[in-house]
Amino acid sequence: MKKYRLLVYLIFFYSLMTGQERKLNNKIALSSIPGYKTLKCDFHMHTVFSDGHVWPTFRVREAQHDGLDVIAITDHIDYEGYPDEIKNDRERAFEIAQEEAQKYDVLLIKGAEISPRVPPFHNNALFLEDLNNLPYGYMKDTHHKFIMKDDIKKRDLMAPFLEVKKQGGFVIYNHPTHMPNYDWDKAGSKDLFTPFHEELLDMGILGGVEVVNSTRYNSMAHRIAEKYNLTMFANSDAHHDIASGYKDSHRPMTLVFAKSKSADAVEEAIRDGRTMLYYNNLLIGRIREAEPFFKNAVSLNSKKVIYKGSPMLEVQITNKTDATFDLKFSSGYVIQNLPLQMDHLKSQGKLSILIGPIWDYPDKIDLSMNVDNILISPENTLTTNFVISI
Ligand SMILES: [Zn+2]
Ligand SMILES: [Zn+2]
Repeated sequence: MKKYRLLVYLIFFYSLMTGQERKLNNKIALSSIPGYKTLKCDFHMHTVFSDGHVWPTFRVREAQHDGLDVIAITDHIDYEGYPDEIKNDRERAFEIAQEEAQKYDVLLIKGAEISPRVPPFHNNALFLEDLNNLPYGYMKDTHHKFIMKDDIKKRDLMAPFLEVKKQGGFVIYNHPTHMPNYDWDKAGSKDLFTPFHEELLDMGILGGVEVVNSTRYNSMAHRIAEKYNLTMFANSDAHHDIASGYKDSHRPMTLVFAKSKSADAVEEAIRDGRTMLYYNNLLIGRIREAEPFFKNAVSLNSKKVIYKGSPMLEVQITNKTDATFDLKFSSGYVIQNLPLQMDHLKSQGKLSILIGPIWDYPDKIDLSMNVDNILISPENTLTTNFVISI
């Protein structure tokens, strides 16, 4: 009896241990594009060092838990949440997080959020050298308040961006929004992409835009990305813990296609615009990345079959990733088993389509797929073609 009880305890503790291991890294399997690694990234989050509610090490643990490769903690340079408790040293959040990141598999990028309530509104700066050198002369009071000066000089608003340029940083226009009401929908893209933004763009300072921020896709931001050829981002902008904000889905991620997992490689990829966004079951990207990404995610197998007395081609489509795909097929033939010519490909799932009847088999058949959950512009989803040899 004692032996039996010991065995039960052992199984219990073993399951606890293995359970914990599994819990510490919920890596989502995704596709890549030829020549590059897919890095899952979140370049926008806050800690108690500005208006967030968590300690920097917690952000690293969360990232490890969620299977992220790269994060940036981007506390506001112009707001202090706990001025009486925490000394205003903007390097501290990075230093504390860095110590934790080195224990794990998480690459930490140094960044900050510059957040005036007037143009150019909120922007993240990444790949910085010294966060304490960023000026915020447009502010009157940052001590648990956000009060800007009454008479703000353009020079003061420009100053932190010039410093970012000096430090070789990269700027992302965050959650393009109508301030101060954070109104996403009422403004036209012209109001959101202001002359200040044009100037930052012309000076080579602004290079990216957040198309997804926390739980929202912003079609206006997507249009801005297209029009000004900006790198697209999907970031959490987390202020509280991630887990409670994303109970039904994974956190939003910027997928960066980089040559390796290093800060230099991430920066090179970002400057070249090699990103896709993964948000709920939606993937957003430019066709240059989206098409090879999807083609790498699936494999196709075909065989000739007789179905209800007619010759057909059965094509099996296998999803090698954890993403899902909503597919609509077209070929010169009817898809016999799908009356609407469409189906849902589950994560790591398979589906079979029956093309025909084909009375006279050609050498090859073109099978076109529209992927309804991969957005390649605000209006268009990905359509791609597979050639099936018979
Ligand atoms: Zn912001
Ligand atoms: Zn933010």
